[in-house]
Amino acid sequence: MLRFNTATSLAGKVYVRPAVRLARFASPALSRSFASASEEKDLVIIGGGPGGYVAAIKAAQLGMKTACIEKRGKLGGTCLNVGCIPSKSLLNNTHLLHQAQHEFEKRGIMVGDKVTANLAQMMKQKETSVNGLTRGIEGLFKKNKVDYLNGHGRILSANEVEIEGLDGTKQTVRTKNILIATGSEPSPFPGMEIDEKQIVTSTGALSLSEVPKRMIVIGGGVIGLELGSVWSRLGAEVTVVEYMDAIGAGMDSTLAKQFHKILQKQGLKFKLGTKVTGSTKEDGIVKVNVEAAKGGNAETLEADVVLVSIGRRPVTEGLGLENVGIELDERGRVKIDQEFRTSSANIRCIGDVTYGAMLAHKAEEEGIAAVEYFAGGHGHVNYDVIPSVIYTHPEVAWCGKTEEQVKASGVQYKVGSFPFLANSRAKTNDDSEGTIKVITDAETDRMLGVHIIGPNAGEMIAEAVLAMEYGASAEDVARTCHAHPTLSEAFKEACMAAYDKPIHF
Ligand SMILES: Cc1cc2nc3c(=O)[nH]c(=O)nc-3n(C[C@H](O)[C@H](O)[C@H](O)COP(=O)(O)OP(=O)(O)OC[C@H]3O[C@@H](n4cnc5c(N)ncnc54)[C@H](O)[C@@H]3O)c2cc1C
Repeated sequence: MLRFNTATSLAGKVYVRPAVRLARFASPALSRSFASASEEKDLVIIGGGPGGYVAAIKAAQLGMKTACIEKRGKLGGTCLNVGCIPSKSLLNNTHLLHQAQHEFEKRGIMVGDKVTANLAQMMKQKETSVNGLTRGIEGLFKKNKVDYLNGHGRILSANEVEIEGLDGTKQTVRTKNILIATGSEPSPFPGMEIDEKQIVTSTGALSLSEVPKRMIVIGGGVIGLELGSVWSRLGAEVTVVEYMDAIGAGMDSTLAKQFHKILQKQGLKFKLGTKVTGSTKEDGIVKVNVEAAKGGNAETLEADVVLVSIGRRPVTEGLGLENVGIELDERGRVKIDQEFRTSSANIRCIGDVTYGAMLAHKAEEEGIAAVEYFAGGHGHVNYDVIPSVIYTHPEVAWCGKTEEQVKASGVQYKVGSFPFLANSRAKTNDDSEGTIKVITDAETDRMLGVHIIGPNAGEMIAEAVLAMEYGASAEDVARTCHAHPTLSEAFKEACMAAYDKPIHF
């Protein structure tokens, strides 16, 4: 059995994870008492998204007097309000709709008359999920005695944060430490005015009041593909325009090609290697001018709704960073060191507003680690094994390096693949599109990357993440008993393929 205990940090530095993690941090100075807005805090967190709210709960659990400032009037940030949760609600329900319309009959389920969507009800159900979860965080704040301060936070000095309430009233809270967790917002497309009705960001695309006949999605990354799938399933003719020659925002190229074909089969159209040069609105139609990314071949596409999903940018406006000399990098992200410290000694920063993947679970991990550093301990985030998931059907999930990255690193490697077509559970469920690809170090058999397209890939990737976190070899996983019949047996078989041979293919 091969075991490694090293991990590469964000900056590429290799460190050894301590065998015994963070035992107890609560210092006597950080007394556990309910904090009011007027008393000095141990920690003030600006931003109540997954980074900020998780950090707040952790800080309170460690005995810090903690306050969390949030300006949107609801906790949960982008993720709960206009991101992960509402998009997954729509993805889940439109997948059920698609199954009812196109698959039930062949599965022997007869539903009578034509199955149709009630969009208003679908949106209502989405809101119910969002509201339940945001209220749940408020409950967790109360339980853990975190002060929830409603309003816009602005840093006045290293120990003072001003809160402008939603009613315009201002108060200042004194604090020993500050954590910036202000997240991100959609990047605008130069020259295109977002009205969130016809030219929309992901926020508008989560709440359209009717199904557009034609939709153009600018950007074939995770958000564009998820929301493109939602509206395609609801009946829109969706065209994805992507500047690069591949979809999927840097995912392993074998899987990107397979995924592209699957989505095309589902009815999405793609214009890859294509750039948008401008747009106009005429008679309720948006005309989008595009041309080959390398130049030439100009054409005009028409749509009822255009979704601009070209990426997200950090939110730092009005945060008062200039008052404490905190610097931003060339992409507007807050500069931090390995321990999330900004250039101001007692101010740290985590999540979308700083370096790294813009993912809710990455922000959460950082939130906990940053608080543990504040409390005088050691925080742990292994950036080598942060999973990514695209919640289409089938799902796509990966962690670690792509084959292209491994090749470029010069390491000798092996690839083991296993198709879901050869997995008994996937065949039984008649849901067998996709593959698992495991990339290992040819010398040590250590897993370097795992890439999955298939049903439940987003759940299955957890096993790969755990295996990689503990430095497992492909043989370690292949010799671990997996229940039958499960989709996870495909992962075991892909690992067998990587170090030896699979049984069922
Ligand atoms: C459509 C969509 C789908 C997504 N799906 C997924 C997914 O499936 N899985 C996943 O991992 N990630 C997903 N993401 C990304 C995920 O939402 C973000 O990575 C995550 O929310 C980042 O967390 P955060 O805490 O850093 O910032 P945010 O969630 O952006 O939270 C920051 C909060 O800070 C508040 N704030 C900002 N400035 C101030 C201020 N000065 N004072 C007070 N409050 C302030 C903001 O109002 C906001 O609520 C998705 C994003 C989108 C848009």
